[in-house]
Amino acid sequence: MSVTHYIDGKYTAASERKQSLFNPATGKVCGDVSLASVSETESAIAAAKAAFPAWSEMSPLRRARVMFKFKALVEENIDELAALITKEHGKVLDDAKGELTRGLEVVEFACGIPHLLKGEMTEQIGTGIDAWSLNQPLGVVTGISPFNFPIMVPMWMFPIAIACGNTFIMKPSEKDPSSTMRIAELLTEAGLPDGVFNVVNGDKEAVDVLLTHPDVQAVSFVGSTPIAEYIYSTASAHGKRVQALGGAKNHMVVMPDADLDQAVAALMGAAYGSAGERCMAISVAVAVGNVADALIEKLTPKVKALRVGNGVIEGMEMGPLVTAEHLKKVEGYVAAGVAEGATLVVDGRGVVAEGGGDGFFLGGCLFDNVTEDMTIYRDEIFGPVLAVVRVPDYATAVKLINEHEFGNGTAIFTQNGDAARQFCHEIQVGMVGVNVPIPVPMAFHSFGGWKRSLFGPLHMHGPDGVRFYTRRKAITARWPTGIRANADFVMPTMK
Ligand code: NAD
Repeated sequence: MSVTHYIDGKYTAASERKQSLFNPATGKVCGDVSLASVSETESAIAAAKAAFPAWSEMSPLRRARVMFKFKALVEENIDELAALITKEHGKVLDDAKGELTRGLEVVEFACGIPHLLKGEMTEQIGTGIDAWSLNQPLGVVTGISPFNFPIMVPMWMFPIAIACGNTFIMKPSEKDPSSTMRIAELLTEAGLPDGVFNVVNGDKEAVDVLLTHPDVQAVSFVGSTPIAEYIYSTASAHGKRVQALGGAKNHMVVMPDADLDQAVAALMGAAYGSAGERCMAISVAVAVGNVADALIEKLTPKVKALRVGNGVIEGMEMGPLVTAEHLKKVEGYVAAGVAEGATLVVDGRGVVAEGGGDGFFLGGCLFDNVTEDMTIYRDEIFGPVLAVVRVPDYATAVKLINEHEFGNGTAIFTQNGDAARQFCHEIQVGMVGVNVPIPVPMAFHSFGGWKRSLFGPLHMHGPDGVRFYTRRKAITARWPTGIRANADFVMPTMK
């Protein structure tokens, strides 16, 4: 399959530069993707700009109706979309469907746009004067997304952006773009006018055009922290509104009073689901007091028993990593953990994967006795590697988390409401779970981390999404009868 670009409602010809696409479960090339040039990217911006006047003038209700149709089409095609995700990303099919369902929640939220766009009104703010505020679309906006959620992360962005009346250019990850292309086709089928949603595939060359072009008003980004920081600083310097979500290192605190079976089940899914390639994956278990020995004892057989294989095989719990380079990088972290003195309780290197071929597989890895100074503690590994850090008490657990450079997600497992409440209050992290390991907010709330996990003031989707993709206009009006005799030379005040 040769993946090109989707501009103005049609596929384009292939670009001069291309990159191979791999099926990570077999290690084989399964196609290629075009990498857009400056002029190809500019043509997408021009198409989006041309589509903006008519789309933004369409009533929110009619825009919402397109979203309703799109939602139904995604549901009808969910098996095909999940298969496209699994083929290029590697995650197991059920997980791919889970990703689609979480993305669809944002589409459902966007279906309510006529309600969400309502402004505020104050009658009689001064004598005979009314004031109100409007939420108006920005124009051409863009989204740049990572490989690990090829549909859900774009869906954090474009449904709200276009429902608000903007036109959109999506730049998916060059590692797994096919499912995003199918989404573009379904939007057209749902009745979205040409040019409202465009997909440009590519790398830094295309991204740099999107970050600097005067016709792009806002940039939403999700990916690693160094790139998020680059996106934020470059696009802001070019006068754009930016939200740039970065990497993570999510800790789960296991208190001595936690239900250990619940905590272990939660850790298994949160650390090893999607082979740990989730920005909300738990990669550090913070064992408080005397809980560590029992935790390790319960985790070990489960990690060893993980079913690892091609994500299309029924019953698999973990697929491959996304590329051969990423596998090498994660294996390098496992070696570094051993060299730095952590105890490797389960070593997933060299795992024999079901239906694996030459796929990029790594089995679940479990480290005990990890300390703050180790690379495997500090860095985001983005693989199936769980580090257990032993701490004497709750206060040390909180200090550890608050001092980490990332602040995306965290969780506490306890049966003590007082400890849980205190944790929610004082933890320096954007998304917090209480006996919930991956506290990804539903679409009606907003998603975002703190510290070096997010650059920009607004979180993604939910109410922050509507704020991000609209700008306010405040109107103050009166309809005086008769002619006013004098001009006002002093600052007007309401009477
Ligand atoms: P990445 O930063 O390598 O790539 C993300 C996007 O940026 C891609 O579209 C890529 O083409 C583009 N890009 C890469 N290098 C670029 C450059 N030099 N200049 C301009 N654009 C560039 O991230 P990834 O490996 O695809 O995804 C994994 C990362 O994403 C992890 O760090 C993970 O934590 C993070 N992530 C964060 C969240 C969150 O909500 N905070 C969600 C999902 C993933």
